[in-house]
Amino acid sequence: MKIHILSDEMASRIAAGEVVERPASVVKELIENSLDAGAAEIAVSIEKSGTMLIRVTDNGEGMGPEDLTLAVERHATSKLRDEGDLFRVATLGFRGEALPSIASVAKMEITSRPPLSDIGYRIRVEGGKKDPPCIVGSSVGTSVEIKEIFFNTPARRKFLKSPATELSHICDAVNRMALAHPDVHFRLSHDGRIIADYASVSQRMDRLHQVLGREIARDLIPFSSARGLLEISGYLSSAPASFPNTRYLMTFVNHRFVRDKVVSHAVLHGYETLLMKGQYPAAIVFVEIPCSEVDVNVHPAKYEVRFRRPSDVHDAVAEAIRQALKQEAKGPSPRALAMASAGFAGVMENSLPYLSPPFQPDKPLLKAEVFPMAAIPADSTGEGFFSSMDILGQILGCYLVCFSARGLALIDQHAAHERVAFEKLRQQLNAGAVQKQSLLIPQPIELSAGELMLLEQELPTLERFGFLLEPFGPNSYAITSVPALLPEGDYRQIVQQMVAELAELEHSEKLRQHLEERLATIACHSVIRANRLLETTEMRALLRDLDQIEFATQCPHGRPVMIEFSRDDLERMFKRVV
Ligand code: ADP
Ligand code: MG
Repeated sequence: MKIHILSDEMASRIAAGEVVERPASVVKELIENSLDAGAAEIAVSIEKSGTMLIRVTDNGEGMGPEDLTLAVERHATSKLRDEGDLFRVATLGFRGEALPSIASVAKMEITSRPPLSDIGYRIRVEGGKKDPPCIVGSSVGTSVEIKEIFFNTPARRKFLKSPATELSHICDAVNRMALAHPDVHFRLSHDGRIIADYASVSQRMDRLHQVLGREIARDLIPFSSARGLLEISGYLSSAPASFPNTRYLMTFVNHRFVRDKVVSHAVLHGYETLLMKGQYPAAIVFVEIPCSEVDVNVHPAKYEVRFRRPSDVHDAVAEAIRQALKQEAKGPSPRALAMASAGFAGVMENSLPYLSPPFQPDKPLLKAEVFPMAAIPADSTGEGFFSSMDILGQILGCYLVCFSARGLALIDQHAAHERVAFEKLRQQLNAGAVQKQSLLIPQPIELSAGELMLLEQELPTLERFGFLLEPFGPNSYAITSVPALLPEGDYRQIVQQMVAELAELEHSEKLRQHLEERLATIACHSVIRANRLLETTEMRALLRDLDQIEFATQCPHGRPVMIEFSRDDLERMFKRVV
């Protein structure tokens, strides 16, 4: 006989592996329990990056002696009763696995006192063996102490990373919980040193400042939207402020931090064409959805969820993000407007105090005061953000220097033209018809037999883009019309590339993305290059065009179109403010 049943101890250690991957997993599970217990204060103490000690103390509802004994048993929970409950989980925990799992790979001691009890109880579990609870003096709430994690699983211990890495995972775990629960006071100390202390706040933005720091939080745009039973809200970086990885892309579903592909994909989708390759936004996204619409029981560590209608969630998130970015790109944010109307004085929430006297709000900022030379005044007809800028001039043959409502603005004329051409093409494409112009001299392209088949198959797609091709001798086609937006030139390469790439893409989502990339290239071909002096009328026309399009702040490859320096920025750069 080769099969035998594992001992209970072995079985629980194996199961524990899924829940307790590293010290940070313990921190996460214990904080979840404290939050589920309604704690208003949670203190986490760590020694040696969690390998020696993890202690989580809360002031929640606590446990009496019987509950204490049960809490460390497998599949013992106060949060679920029957199967139906599994589809309306409103707590962070529900599997009844965390405490027994942790107890099977570490030394555990829990001290707890419910609010109505005068005394506290303590229970110890070591290597799966527990002592009966004993009476101790304690304050209301629960304190769970975990020592020597993985003391009995050396294999696991070997997988731990450097102390600094483990500690950073712990900080991340605390920070995510803190972001989702701004009303709870969180404290984290390591080897006796306090490394985070987030007092309870009523505004989520304040918690963002505490957790992410001023530098990052300051530039985040709040957004919120509701669609049916879905509520989506959060904070986004504007397109120019991006990061080289997804560190600041955090998704929460019903106050639970999750690594959800649907939501993160939707976020990136919302930013499409606004970011350079390999750049990611900061996006803290909270999705609120009825419990019946989401399955949280996908993985023991509960980092994943499954939506009943993923595409609804995806579309709602992407749309919310796109709307928020569109707002931001269209013109000054409410914050920037407030700054402008107050003469850029320190109206920003939480901004550091000014050393220089603030501008008087009753003395409006006169444009002439700032640059009294012969500036080209703003469009009298211009309502939009860009049209209402004064143009001070063009420098280095490629940058327009302007004065905006927010301060000094530099516009990259090439990137701006690219974006304008791209958006015009996209609008025409969405409307179903790219305007074509026929070529005086058709441009023949030579093709192999295979390519010929591909081309013939893709003719309708090419036509949608404004490219008309007609047979031109054997094995050959000629381009007879091109998009009207394109200047004269050689289009053979564009068409050849399009055919080759279109052939590989059947999936419509990918195709759509690809078409956008193609559009960006076409737009790029069609615009004036840098190093060309622009006439006044051309500069004005460009600014007017920017007002006409969505997402005017980035070129289609994600490069910024405009860089602005507010009074605030300048003062910071000149160290007039701290
Ligand atoms: P789950 O959270 O999935 O129910 P756990 O093993 O994490 O499973 O915890 C088991 C039970 O112990 C919980 O259901 C809860 O009743 C109780 N418990 C755990 N931690 C605390 C705490 N900090 N305060 C009050 N009760 C707790
Ligand atoms: Mg739990």
